Amino acid sequence: MHYVERWRVHKFGGSSVADAVCMERVARILEQDPHPRMGIVLSACRGVTDTLLGVVAAAERREDVTGRIEELRRRHETIADTLLPEEARQEFMSLLTQDCRDIASILHTISLIRFSSQMVRDLVAGYGEIWSTRLFSAYLRHRGRRPGQVQWVDAREVVVVEWGSLGPGVRWTESQENMDRLVPSGPATLIITGFIARDPKGLQTTLGRNGSDFSGSIFGALLNAEQIHIWTDVDGVLSADPRLVPEAKVIDSLSYSEAMELAYFGAKVIHPQTMAPAVRKGIPIWIRNSFAPEKPGTLICANPSSQLAVKGITCIDRVALVNLEGAGMIGVPGTAHRLFGALRDHGISVILISQGSSEHSICFAIPEAESVRAETVVRQAFERELQDGHIQSVEVEDNCSILAVVGDGMAGSHGAAAKVFGALGAAAVSVRAIAQGASERNISAVIDGKHSARALRSVHSSFYLSPHTISIGLIGPGLVGGVLLDQFASQVERLSRELKVDLRVRGIMGSSRMHLAGHEIPLGRWRDAFGAHQEPADMARFVQHVNADHLPHAIIIDCTSSLEVAQHYPAWLAGGIHVVTPNKKANSADLPFYLRLQEASRQGNTHYMYEATVGAGLPIVQTLRDLHGTGDRIQRIEGILSGTLSYLFNVWDGSQPFSQVLHTARAKGYTEPDPRDDLSGIDFARKIIILAREMGLRLEMQDVQLEGLVPEALTSCAPQEFLDRLPEFDAPIAERLRAAQARGRVLRYVGAIDAASSSASVGLVELERSHTFANINLTDNVVRFVTQRYNQNPLIVQGPGAGPDVTAGGVFADLLRVCAYLGAKL
Ligand code: ADP
Ligand code: ASP
Ligand code: MG
Repeated sequence: MHYVERWRVHKFGGSSVADAVCMERVARILEQDPHPRMGIVLSACRGVTDTLLGVVAAAERREDVTGRIEELRRRHETIADTLLPEEARQEFMSLLTQDCRDIASILHTISLIRFSSQMVRDLVAGYGEIWSTRLFSAYLRHRGRRPGQVQWVDAREVVVVEWGSLGPGVRWTESQENMDRLVPSGPATLIITGFIARDPKGLQTTLGRNGSDFSGSIFGALLNAEQIHIWTDVDGVLSADPRLVPEAKVIDSLSYSEAMELAYFGAKVIHPQTMAPAVRKGIPIWIRNSFAPEKPGTLICANPSSQLAVKGITCIDRVALVNLEGAGMIGVPGTAHRLFGALRDHGISVILISQGSSEHSICFAIPEAESVRAETVVRQAFERELQDGHIQSVEVEDNCSILAVVGDGMAGSHGAAAKVFGALGAAAVSVRAIAQGASERNISAVIDGKHSARALRSVHSSFYLSPHTISIGLIGPGLVGGVLLDQFASQVERLSRELKVDLRVRGIMGSSRMHLAGHEIPLGRWRDAFGAHQEPADMARFVQHVNADHLPHAIIIDCTSSLEVAQHYPAWLAGGIHVVTPNKKANSADLPFYLRLQEASRQGNTHYMYEATVGAGLPIVQTLRDLHGTGDRIQRIEGILSGTLSYLFNVWDGSQPFSQVLHTARAKGYTEPDPRDDLSGIDFARKIIILAREMGLRLEMQDVQLEGLVPEALTSCAPQEFLDRLPEFDAPIAERLRAAQARGRVLRYVGAIDAASSSASVGLVELERSHTFANINLTDNVVRFVTQRYNQNPLIVQGPGAGPDVTAGGVFADLLRVCAYLGAKL
């Protein structure tokens, strides 16, 4: 009777058969699948192929490799000792010992001639698969839980391949005849060597590095299997390399073309050639995790059900970009043909090509290892044109990467390219060249190699809504900085869940020491963590650490009031780091510095946010920006922008001396330790300058007409003396209050900016009792915007304008605004 049950093929990668425990796991997986006919393709145990190729290279350099071969022998011996019964163990060991002897003689010859041919390298590299399959077939036979016999199959007896310019090509008819001769008719489990094959002359060859996936699908086709399962150490094909993008997600299904494109552009989980044999026979491929066999994995087939437009984002590193430029190429037929013909003749494979419509330049990417050769080949091919000046330059740029975004669905949807380039821009990654296949299945961008990880994460976040990872460094964990960290601690989890922003505080720096964390500082315990690490503060190291290459976005929060720190902003902003701060020093420094700040943030495509420099958490700067941005014309801004001065004049009704009111305020903590810092009006004037500049006025600090309240005679004495002697000066200010009251008015310390006269002032003014500024509470701040739109009835922002809580809140709001600009869904 003819046996009708079809074959099922399982391929296990090196990570799935790394040791005895792994092999036992694989055996269990196979025994749980009751299918009667199975082809099992195995890789070498993890790392063995690398080691074998390593010893060949070492022998060429005449290094002693006996130790390394012995180590390989012992590693396999350990598996045999653990898994095999004595008789099978002995049989395996005697073959292994003989193989190791053979390898040693081959290596000896190599070390004498200091050279190895491709054939010899293939021969040695292939032993790993022979050993892993011998071990596993003996083990599975010994367990005896599979139906039918367990048969070891040497792929070299079956698969015949011919190497050409496109890699190994299978000779199907010959291979099929070989297979048919070997196939048993009933239930059976074939244990097949992956990776190796033979060439048309009968000599051993391989299918290239990572070629066991290809073996799996070749045997799938030869056995006309109903399914191919490729088992590895991850849950399936992920939306990006999980080592670079930890939040990558499993893709439930992919088309063959998508899988091929992802594999070609670097998704190591599957070899690009794997798909072809399966497509020919329409066999579905499953990618599954041998460490978690209960998970469904990824299905690769002709008509996948997944609706996602973009399936995966990959990256190929160590690429060189070659740019050929010259007006002489315009309209000259055959230039590309000559160029790529020459490269093909020298066996240099081109990964990506991009040509502008003007034909003025052709740009292409190749593996970096070929860059020197490629340049020579191109220069030779166009020697005449280079001499005649028809081609001006051939430039080669090493250390590039290609980022590829892959998905069949991009063809029918809009905005994929905008998302890709928007995300790259937001991560401050510049793009050197772009290619999009006519199939619209792939958008590729050549970028600077050192940004590949940050580019990958940023683009991944924009398509997969995985949290936008933001690396944060905080300088100045004092009053405001400390509260801000506490506020983060209570919010980061929610922000990650709801808004998809992953805020990672990776550095905290005080005045003398700092703490840097590779991943992130545990926010709930930041004080302990900061206290326990006493690394000396080092600004350069701190900045470099926060602006890590692998994280897409970096923000420095400056919670100091230091000019020295502020002086770094232009370099940070120009270098791709966003800056958020309540520190007034930068924006109130001299005008050329202020203009440099603006220029740096344009140049670096970064955001500089300082809402909390004026009125703490009150939306003052943002309101001004919105008015400006929507085309309103700001005519005048007036306000009370000092909580201390606000308090002093709100409570002082003349029934006690001014010095007494100041004393009470100081006792309540409403003033600086030295109240002259408030009374001088300088801090207030800084805020006025910040707003004036925001309005577009080019004012310097000395342009502000400032009326300070510190008596001339007390400006430079010690703080205590100032407090002691202030009562001597109560009379003149009391007189001013009385005069105002006599006119039915009140005194307030107010700042004003007038656009028409381009002037600004800060000082005591008399106001009607009904004026808004005469009716605010305690330490409130208040600002009145008189604009073209808000003319008769000005726009007023009022509320508590000082204190660590609200100031930190203002900084936090700025931070979230930056997150939104970077693409987070706020
Ligand atoms: P095996 O030994 O099973 O052949 P490989 O090491 O060749 O396994 O391939 C699996 C590895 O590929 C995973 O551990 C993962 O780190 C890496 N990888 C890279 N890109 C992807 C991706 N897009 N999806 C899944 N894994 C990927
Ligand atoms: N063992 C071979 C290699 O490491 C083939 C494979 O594992 O896919 O390249
Ligand atoms: Mg592999």
